[in-house]
This record gives sequence, structure tokens and C-alpha cells, in this order.
Amino acid sequence: MPTPIQIVEVGPRDGLQNEKTLVSTEDKVTFIRRAIAAGAKRIEIASFVHPKLVPQMADAEDVVAALGPVDGVTRIGLTLNKRGALRALDCGIDQLGAVCVASDGFGMKNQNQTSAETVATAKEIVKLAHAEGRSAQVTVSTAFGCPFDGEVPEQRVLDIVARAAEAGPSEIALADTIGVGVPSQVTSLVGKAADLIAPIPVRVHFHNTRNMAIANVWAAIEAGAKTIDSSIGGIGGCPFAPNATGNVATEDVIYLLSRSGIDHGLDLNAVIETAKWMETILGKKSPSMLAAAGDFLT
Ligand code: ZN
Repeated sequence: MPTPIQIVEVGPRDGLQNEKTLVSTEDKVTFIRRAIAAGAKRIEIASFVHPKLVPQMADAEDVVAALGPVDGVTRIGLTLNKRGALRALDCGIDQLGAVCVASDGFGMKNQNQTSAETVATAKEIVKLAHAEGRSAQVTVSTAFGCPFDGEVPEQRVLDIVARAAEAGPSEIALADTIGVGVPSQVTSLVGKAADLIAPIPVRVHFHNTRNMAIANVWAAIEAGAKTIDSSIGGIGGCPFAPNATGNVATEDVIYLLSRSGIDHGLDLNAVIETAKWMETILGKKSPSMLAAAGDFLT
């Protein structure tokens, strides 16, 4: 398992979006700059959704403008529809993240579209980005379970992955949106998806809602995933599990990779310091284990 693994920092988007404390544009930009200083090369910096639906992301354009382009760093904007995609492209985002929903129940609740409609929209967003000379990737959400429809059949997810691949995204992610997946499920789904869409790489996105995220990360790497989403401090939450923690913590993933001899390009201590700084912004302790325990042998 010697190949490097890339980490996509999703704290500024997925993490903050699920935090109750409204964070200022200035603090968001500081957060992003600290992630870059720690070595992050791809960062989900905002989502371009209706500000009434997600108040934390109402300043998406301001964040992009205040940050500006950063050499060697891909700034990702999450978009759920054409309008959001156009907003993201207009303000100069480097890469669009489109979303297919694997289940109809979540699709209707989250973006008022059936699963099939979300696939069509995601493919349209990828084409829009390519027409503007920008890259785009697709995330398949609720790939490991849906809060409304329950279990999502593996073949259903794979069919969506195959259809999304037709648009030529730079990568396809399998997302455990609500944190219900377990490693055996990850091994099977990631392995099959990687075979199905090669040479398009597979990314994974895990929430630690039920304490499975770090185990799922390892299973995904063994099954062929090349990129891991994580948030500094493990900030965020899950709208369908009110007391749950957020994304798998970046520092926990770094520790796993480093101790396993896998390159990732991030500085663990700089990430831990950033997690501790974010604790002062959010006014609460971060759920990450490494932020509490620190590194081994340093
Ligand atoms: Zn998420």
C-alpha cells in the first residue's frame, strides 16, 4: 500500500455548515489559510446553496474573494444545481463538486429531486464546469444508507456511479452522509466502484456519527480509494443525528496514514494547532482524538 493518499479538507464547508455557531468570513478565511499552511492542496471552501437554507454558507462569494486564488491549491465549491454552479464559476472557484443522491428519500428532502434527477443535474454541472475550463467531481451521497429509505442497495449505488462517470468527472466520491456505514460495506462498495470507473479515481467521505469513520477510511484505502475527505478537528455534525460528531478528523487520518507509511503531505502538529484554534472560535472542544492526545514519539 505504498501509493500516496490525498486528503481533501472539508472543514470550511461540511464542517462549518453543520455547526450552530455562525463563523465570520474573516475566521473562515483564516481557517482555510491555516489548512493551506499545514499542507492542504485541495479544500472545499464553500457551498453555493440558497442562503436561507444554509445560513452558514451565505458568504460563499465573500470567502472566495477574500481568499483569492492560491498557487498549487484547488479551491472546491459544492453545488447542488445549475444556479449554484453558475455562482461558483462566476466567482472563480477552481473545481465544482456536484452531488448525486443514491436514495429518493434524501434527494427529495435535501434538494427536492429524485435520485435520477440528481444524477442528471450532477452531469449537467460537470459539463458546465468543463465548458468554462474548470474541473468537476461528483459525490454520491447516502451511498451507505439513507435516513428516510433505510438500506441503499449496493447495485443501486454502482449504477449511479456508472452514470455519473459518463460525464467525465475528475473523480467520484462515495459519501456516508449520515455515518451508518461499516468497514465490510466500504470494502465491497469501494472495491467495486474503483473497478467500475477506473481510471477515474474514487474518493470517500465519512462522518463519524457512529464511531466507524476511521475504520472506514482504512477499509477504503485497502479497497483502492485514492482520496479521503476529512475536516480539521472533526468539526461538524449530522442533521439526522442531533448529538453526533462531524466528519472524520483530518488529524486522525494523518496519524493513520503516517504510522502506516503512506504519504499525504500534511503537517500533523499544524493541523492539531488549527483544530485547537477552531475550538476557540466554536466555543467547544473538538471531537478529534489526536487533538486531545497529540502525536506519538514527538
Ligand atoms: Zn458530509
